[in-house]
Parts: sequence; C-alpha cells; structure tokens
Amino acid sequence: MLERLQDSFAKITKTLVGKSKITDKNIEEAIEEIKSALLEADVNLRVARRFINATAEEARGEKVLKAIDPGQQFVKIIYDKMVHLLGDERSELALRGPDVTSTILFLGLQGSGKTTNAAKLALHLKNQGRRVLLCAADLSRPAAVKQLEILGEQVGVPVFTGEHQDPISRAKAAVQEAKKHQYNVLIIDTAGRMQVDTDLMTEIKAISDAVNPDEKILVADAMLGQNAVDVAKSFDEAVEITGFILSKFDSDTRGGAALSLKSITGKPIKFIGTGEKVEALEIFHPERIASRILGMGDIVSLVEKAQETVDEEEARRMQQKLFSSDFSLEDYLEQIRMVKKMGKAGELAKLLPGVSAKDIEEKLDEKQMVREEAIILSMTKKERKNLLILNPSRRKRVAKGAGVNVVEVNRFINRFEKMKIQMKKVMKNKAYQAQLAKSL
Ligand code: GDP
Repeated sequence: MLERLQDSFAKITKTLVGKSKITDKNIEEAIEEIKSALLEADVNLRVARRFINATAEEARGEKVLKAIDPGQQFVKIIYDKMVHLLGDERSELALRGPDVTSTILFLGLQGSGKTTNAAKLALHLKNQGRRVLLCAADLSRPAAVKQLEILGEQVGVPVFTGEHQDPISRAKAAVQEAKKHQYNVLIIDTAGRMQVDTDLMTEIKAISDAVNPDEKILVADAMLGQNAVDVAKSFDEAVEITGFILSKFDSDTRGGAALSLKSITGKPIKFIGTGEKVEALEIFHPERIASRILGMGDIVSLVEKAQETVDEEEARRMQQKLFSSDFSLEDYLEQIRMVKKMGKAGELAKLLPGVSAKDIEEKLDEKQMVREEAIILSMTKKERKNLLILNPSRRKRVAKGAGVNVVEVNRFINRFEKMKIQMKKVMKNKAYQAQLAKSL
C-alpha cells in the first residue's frame, strides 16, 4: 500500500526533521523532491503544481523561519497540504433515517471491482445493524449476476434479481421491493464496460434518473493512477457522482489516484478496498493516509484494528505504554501476543510509526516474532525489566532456553533498544503528537 510514495516522502521528511535552520535553498531542494515524488506517484500534473506552490509559499513564511523547530514545522505543512489533497475530513455516506430506504448506485468500469465492493459495502452496512438489499443490475456480463449472488450469500445479504431483463426496470423493481420490505439500504450494481463509452453513460444515466439514488458511488481502480481520474471525470460529467470507493488500494504502490481524485472532481473518497476478501473495505481517513505516506505511522488505525479483536482497555493501555519511556520487554511481549492475536503482522506493522515500507518485512515477520517471544520468555522478570543486567553468561542462558544462538539474542536486544530510541524520536515530532492527542 503506497510503498513507493512512502519511500520518497520518508526521504524528504528525514532530511527536514532535525534541521535547526531552514534556508531558501533547503526549501527549493525539498520542493523539487516533493515534485518528483508526486509525479512519480502519477499524480495529476495540475494537482502536483498546486500542491508544491501552496507548500512552498507557506514554507517561506515567517512561521517556519521563526519556529523553534523549523524542520518539523515544514513537515507539518506538507502533512496539512497532503490531508487537504486527500479530502480534509472523512466523508460519510449520506443515508436517510431508519424508516426510509436509501439507495446507493454502484458505477464503474468493468474489472474496477464494482461487484466485489458492492458486497463489501453491504457487509459493512449490515455490520452496523442495517438491513441491506443488493440488486444485480449488471446485465451486460452474464456472470455478473451469479457473482453477486454468490457474494451476497457469503455476506448474508439477499440479492434481488426479479423478472425484468433490462437494467432500468430491474433497478426500479428493486427499489419497490426494498421499500415494501423496509430495507434500510439498497445497493444497485450496474454494468461496466472495458472503456467509457456513450452507450454505457446513457444506460447509467437512465438508471440513475429512474431510481434517483441518494449516493452514486464510482468504484475507481487505484492501480489505474491518472487514468482512474479521467474515468472519474467522465462518470461525474454524465451522472454527477457523489463519491468514490478506491478499490485495489492494497496493490497501489504509487498513490496517484488517491492524491488526485478529490482535487480534480471535488468528490470525496469514502472507502478504500484493501483486498479481495469481502471484509477488505475500510473507511477512508485523509489524516491517517497522509500520516502513513509521510512515515508518521498511523496509531489511530492501529488502535482501531486492535479494538476489533482485543479488549479496548487493553489496547489503550498498550498504546500509552508504547510511547512511555519505561516501555519494557514485558510490554513488548504483550504487544507481540496482541499482534499475533490480530493476525497478519505485516498489515499491522505498516501502521507502526517510524517504520518505512522497506523495513517492514525484516522488522516483523511472524517467524521472527515467535523467536523473539521465546527469547523474552527465557529471561527472568527482572531481566525483562532491566536489560543492563544481561551479562554474557545470562545471555548464553537465555539463548539456550530459547533454542537460538547468542548472536540472535544480542541482535534482538540491540533491535529493541533501537526501537525505543525510534519511539522517542517519533514522540518528539510535534505534528505526530498533535495527531496522537486527537486519537486519545
Ligand atoms: P467488476 O467487473 O467491476 O464488477 O469487478 P469485480 O468486482 O469482478 O472485481 C475485479 C477483480 O478485482 C476481482 O478479481 C476482485 O477480486 C478484484 N478486486 C476487487 N476489489 C479489490 C481490492 O480492493 N483489492 C484487490 N487486491 N482486488 C480487488
């Protein structure tokens, strides 16, 4: 997820943070690097230009030059501009009250992930306690109806097909059905084509006029980069979409679509698709994505994810502990266990502050966690609290107990010490503190 973009921005922020003085030359250099990073990410040229002009202007202002920590202040400006680019605030679905059926029309090119994401959203809304009905109005692809039926069954949401064989009548009939049976939300999956064409737009417009939906969600394929933006423009011109689901975000290393869609169309990204499974849908939070891009980690997502599977109190305690100066091996052990409980360490590691995309693999692979757990468990409680007492003979004993060699124990201890230093650095970052304060 956004690995390449993260890597470029990690370099930029690393150079800036810690600079006690920011000169015009520093600003020029950083701006040049930001520009290349954005263009490499396949961000629309107009959007990139606007971004760097606004950033440069503010960076040259008094606020940065006079700041106690100008480097951090500069990074904060980049962060704020990035949040703005991504859409400022999270955008909710405009759903009606519980007694009225809301209709959501799903639009997009073939293969964009429309059908899959219709099922994902159905599950998401069902999990919020809503009664959801899906309608298969993609009649251009024979397998599409069957696909939605299978997915519907998987997520436990009924799929309306009805008698009609043309999409407009079918969509209308679905609305009647949903009202009659008092469904809270109706999601209509429409046809896509390989490319935007007039027939497709005419059909979409006719369906939209017939059902007058509350939301017209375009499923945009993140991997298409700028092309996704062009597709979005065409759909928006035809039916005035109300927002996006950015699908395949998990496979998007560059981030061009995410960074350009709002700016170009004025319409918000509401969700991101983060995998092929029906659970892989996340609410799009501009602030979180921005901090992820800038390598500031994403403690908010971390905590939320933890809360899904771990006791809330426990997760909160862990978060506070993580940043306290007496974060010990005991706490680390607890953290390993929690991560294991949540599964997919890699996914979670991406959310940790100060961890660049490249570091992830080596930092938190599951096998390593098992070894680390064994090493910690072979230490006495006293040793876990105070690593300084781990002299060579104690280390030898620990290695033996864990079934690893001493070099590995030494390496682990060094890694842990480094991690603590890293955490301290992150905590000194003002922009990060502000974000953390908000999340607590
Ligand atoms: P449609 O033609 O627009 O209805 O597209 P589908 O829903 O059939 O999806 C096309 C392909 O993209 C399928 O193989 C999906 O599993 C895959 N897909 C959809 N959403 C995502 C996503 O968020 N991440 C990933 N990795 N794959 C996705």
